[in-house]
Amino acid sequence: MRPATRAVHVGRPPHDSDEPLNVPITMAATYVAGGSREYGRYANPTWTAFEEALADLEGGEQGARCLSFASGLAAVSVVLDLVGTDQLVVAPRHAYNGTSMQLADLESRGRIRTALVDITDTAATVAACEDAALVWLESPSNPAMELADLAAISAAAHEAGAYVVVDNTFATPVLQQPLDLGADLVVHSATKYISGHSDVLMGAIVTRSDELYDVLKRRRDLLGAIPGTFEAWLALRGLRTLPLRVERAQANATELARRLTEHPAVTEVRYPGFGGMLAIVLADADTADRLTHGTSLWVHATSLGGVESMFERRRRWAAEPATIPEGLVRLSVGIEDVDDLWDDLVSALPHR
Ligand SMILES: *Cc1c(COP(=O)(O)O)cnc(C)c1O
Repeated sequence: MRPATRAVHVGRPPHDSDEPLNVPITMAATYVAGGSREYGRYANPTWTAFEEALADLEGGEQGARCLSFASGLAAVSVVLDLVGTDQLVVAPRHAYNGTSMQLADLESRGRIRTALVDITDTAATVAACEDAALVWLESPSNPAMELADLAAISAAAHEAGAYVVVDNTFATPVLQQPLDLGADLVVHSATKYISGHSDVLMGAIVTRSDELYDVLKRRRDLLGAIPGTFEAWLALRGLRTLPLRVERAQANATELARRLTEHPAVTEVRYPGFGGMLAIVLADADTADRLTHGTSLWVHATSLGGVESMFERRRRWAAEPATIPEGLVRLSVGIEDVDDLWDDLVSALPHR
C-alpha cells in the first residue's frame, strides 16, 4: 500500500466486531504484573499506535521502529545522550534554535565537542565528519531553508564510524525518508506537521537499528521524557491527514513562492522546491516587523506545520545566528485558500 493509505490505516485495532475503529486513550500509570508493559513510564498502547504509524511512514517497506517523546527537544536530547564524553558532533551552523542551544550548552559544560558546518557545502561537511561520533543534519534547515546531500554525507559519516541523525520535521516522511538515504536515526518535532494543528507538543525518534532502539528506549525509560497519552492520541489523529495537509501546504507554498519572487519589496525568496516552509528576505528588520504585525489572516507566532499559516522574523530571537538576515521572515504555509493568503500578505508588504 501507498503512504497516503498507510497513514490512514496503520496502528488501528483489528477489524473485529465491537472493536473501536480508533485506538482508545489508555490512561494507565501501571499495569497488572506479569506482562510486557509493567509500568506507565515504559509503555502505553496509545503511544504504541502512534509509534507504529510514524515508523511505517518513515520506514516504508523495509520497516522501522519509533519511540515517542514529550517534545521534539526531548527526542533531540536523548539522541545527543548517545555521544560519549569529549566526542565530536558535526552539526549545521543554521539549525533549529533549541538544537543549536542544546549543543552549545553541552559543549560549554565540557560534555561534547562540536563542529558547525555549512551543510550545503558537501565537501566541507564530509571533511568535518572524519573525527565525528555523530553527524546531525537538518534539511531543509531552519530558518535558512538550506538543503544537504543526505546520501553523500551519510556515506562519508559511516565510513568515519559516526552515526547520522536527520531532523525531518520540515520535510516530513511524506516528502523525504532519510532512513532510505542512509541515516541511522530520524528525529521529529511531532508538534509541527505530524500532529498538524498547533495544539500538541510531542517528539519522536525513528530507526531501523534494533541496537539503537534498545539504547534509546532505555534512555527514555530512565529520563522519563515520555509523551502524555492524550497527546499521543491527538498526534495520531493528526497523522491520519498528514499526506493531505502536506500536499495542500506544498501547493500553496509553491504558488506563494512564485508570486513573492515577482514582488518588488521581496529581496530574496528561499523555497527549496518542496514542502510548506519558505523564507523571504525583506529590506530590513522594520519592513519585516511591519509585515508580521500587519496581517489579519497570517498569525505572528513561532511555530510551524499547522493547518493555519503563521510567520515570524527570525532575528527577533537573540539566539538566531548573525548570518541570518535581519529582514528574513520564515513562513509556515497552511492549508487555507492561497488567494486569501496572498491578499493578506500583499496588504502588509510595502507597495512601490
Ligand atoms: C520545533 C522543532 C524542534 C523542537 O521540537 P519541540 O516539539 O518544540 O520540542 C526540533 N526541530 C525542529 C526542526 C523544529 O522545528
